[in-house]
Amino acid sequence: MRELNTIAEMRSWSRSERSHRHKIGFVPTMGYLHAGHLRLVDRARELTDRVVVSIFVNPLQFGPHEDFARYPRDLARDRELAAAREVDCVFVPETSAMYPAEPLARVVPGPVADTLEGTARPGHFGGVLTVVAKLFHIVEPDVAVFGRKDFQQAMLVKRLVQDLDFPITIDVAPTVRELDGLALSSRNTYLTPDQRRSALALSRALRTLEQTWRAGEADPVRLQRVGLEAMHVPNVIPEYCALVDEDVQPVARVTARTVAVVAARVGKTRLLDNVVLGEGIGADPRVTP
Ligand code: AMP
Repeated sequence: MRELNTIAEMRSWSRSERSHRHKIGFVPTMGYLHAGHLRLVDRARELTDRVVVSIFVNPLQFGPHEDFARYPRDLARDRELAAAREVDCVFVPETSAMYPAEPLARVVPGPVADTLEGTARPGHFGGVLTVVAKLFHIVEPDVAVFGRKDFQQAMLVKRLVQDLDFPITIDVAPTVRELDGLALSSRNTYLTPDQRRSALALSRALRTLEQTWRAGEADPVRLQRVGLEAMHVPNVIPEYCALVDEDVQPVARVTARTVAVVAARVGKTRLLDNVVLGEGIGADPRVTP
């Protein structure tokens, strides 16, 4: 496995691989890799010939009072996990290489970036799309794989490539969960054992929503109430529950294609989860013990 740190090296590696007619698959991450990230690697491997994983905690997508400084980092472990999964190249740029100065030109997403996660984290998606655009220009992949766990982000990245004509196919892979249903996240490491138990409120709320919808409830307002109530347990502060379509727009009537998205704070940790109601979280892959 190659480890590259500069933009020039990364671009020249990619161009050389492409000159040999190898298709490049790309998985952007903030590191502290877990089975969810590795699932994206497997998917990239299925679709392409060479897999690049970037590890970069992007300051631009964190608000001033968020967890940028304490975000979990363990490059040695990430290196081992990536190598064991047969990643061909990890790209680990320094912050000073990605942002030699405060960037003046940035990606400005549309109004959908101001809803849900965007309401809770103003400017977040502008930061995400800016770094994703930069990484796409550096890696020049054929395919990039994102997780459905970050549903709104995946949709915005699809719009980024569509609206700005990046010649890249975006693939979205399902959410990998612990056996008890908790969606894997690097931020789960912040949770105390008690908070870890409380965090199940999110996946439980999604299951309750799915059951209520299957029992015949199709009114998004009533379902939203059900979802928020299900997250009202000790140590959990629900932030939102929304019933949206694939473009993250609120639906008038809930169908099998509707996505239920939830966010809540457990202690100081913000957690997200979502489900396509017709599929259910039972269909999502679990970590193998
Ligand atoms: P992050 O390192 O948290 O920025 O995530 C990098 C990529 O991994 C994003 O596309 C996420 O959506 C994806 N991801 C995070 N958690 C999971 C999960 N539990 N299952 C599948 N993909 C995930």
